[in-house]
Amino acid sequence: MVVAARAEADPVALDRRPLRIAGAQGGPRALRALQARMVECRACPRLVAWREEAARVKVRRFRSETYWARPVPGFGDPRARLVLIGLAPAAHGGNRTGRMFTGDRSGDFLYAALHRAGFASQPTSLRPGDGLRLQDAFIVAPCRCAPPANMPRPDELRRCSTWLDGEMALLPRTRVVLALGGVGWDAVLQHFARRGIAIPRPRPRFGHGAVAHLSGAPVLLGSYHVSQQNTNTGKLTPSMLDSILSLARDLVQER
Ligand code: SF4
Repeated sequence: MVVAARAEADPVALDRRPLRIAGAQGGPRALRALQARMVECRACPRLVAWREEAARVKVRRFRSETYWARPVPGFGDPRARLVLIGLAPAAHGGNRTGRMFTGDRSGDFLYAALHRAGFASQPTSLRPGDGLRLQDAFIVAPCRCAPPANMPRPDELRRCSTWLDGEMALLPRTRVVLALGGVGWDAVLQHFARRGIAIPRPRPRFGHGAVAHLSGAPVLLGSYHVSQQNTNTGKLTPSMLDSILSLARDLVQER
C-alpha cells in the first residue's frame, strides 16, 4: 500500500527513526510502519504547539506524568470489521497516554460499551500496557493531535486526512464505520470520495442512528460523540450507545 503524498503538507514525507508506538496491538508490519511515521508528524504548527503546551503545563492530577504529546495513532484489531472514528485526542487523555480514548471520561464511557458489546477485552482503558485489547474493532480519528477547545480547523483536518486514508487502507476487512459525531461522519464521507466512491446528493446527513449504504463502501453508521458534554447531559446514554453497537454488530455480520 502506498500512501499518496500531498503537495500542501508533508506529513507522510517524514521518514525518521521509527518510535515505539504506545499501546500498539500487533498488526501487520505496514500498519505499524505507517503509525511510526505518523507519530513524528509536525505538519500543523498550531496543533503541535497546543499538544506540547498541554504536556508542559499539565493538570494537577497528572502533574507527575510524562505526556505523550505526539499524534495518536489508531488502536485496535488490524483485522477489524468495525472501525470507529471519533474527533481528536483530548489534551489530558489521549495526548497524555498516547492511545485513543485512553485516560479520560469519554474513554471510560466508550470502552465500557465496547466491552458490553464484546468488542473490548475489558471495560476500562487507563494506559498503554493495561491489558486492553479490541476484538474485531479498530479506532481512528480525523485529527491526530489534541486541538484547542477540541476544534480542529478545516486545514488541519485536510492535512491529517493523509493519515486517516493511510490507516483505513490498511484495514482491509472493514465492513462498518461508526462515526462518533458529525466531524467524524463528514471525514468518512470525504475519505470515501477520495477512494472514488460516489457520494449521493444531497449528502447523507449525520444523526444518532443514521445509516448510509453507499455502493462499494463500508456501511456508515452515526452516533452522538461520547464527549462528557453529551454523556453528562443525557444526550447520549449507555443504553443508546449499546443499541448503536448492537446495530453495528448486526451490520458487520450481515455483509
Ligand atoms: S493533526 Fe495530523 S497532520 Fe496535523 S500535525 Fe497532527 S498528525 Fe500531523
